[in-house]
Amino acid sequence: MTLFEKILAREIPADIVFEDEFCLAFRDISPQAPVHVLCIPKSPIPRIGEAKESDQALLGRLLVMAAEVARREGIAENGYRLVINNGPNGGETVPHLHVHLLGGRPLAWPPG
Ligand code: 5GP
Repeated sequence: MTLFEKILAREIPADIVFEDEFCLAFRDISPQAPVHVLCIPKSPIPRIGEAKESDQALLGRLLVMAAEVARREGIAENGYRLVINNGPNGGETVPHLHVHLLGGRPLAWPPG
């Protein structure tokens, strides 16, 4: 069971900011911006590179939810960033697909 599956199962505490039938959003334990929320599907897709055609609706739902969380967090107007890390070079550390929602300050581009 991955760390995020344990959060989904409420075995590990998390600061949950949004939940629906398909997705969960909670604050990152090590925030890299004033707002740093992780949006995850309840289905255990390991990473975006392993998503299937049948995951299409769920992936869309995940992005729509991330945008909704951004509005609720009050960062929509000034802007924010959504990030998906895939594999070792992408910086992925937890093998359960997650979208990072980062905002609340200007974000540099390109990333290091
Ligand atoms: P990744 O590096 O896989 O893209 O992102 C994993 C994220 O999970 C990291 O930003 C890390 O800070 C966060 N994280 C790791 N362990 C925990 C935890 O126990 N709780 C929460 N809320 N976030 C975690």
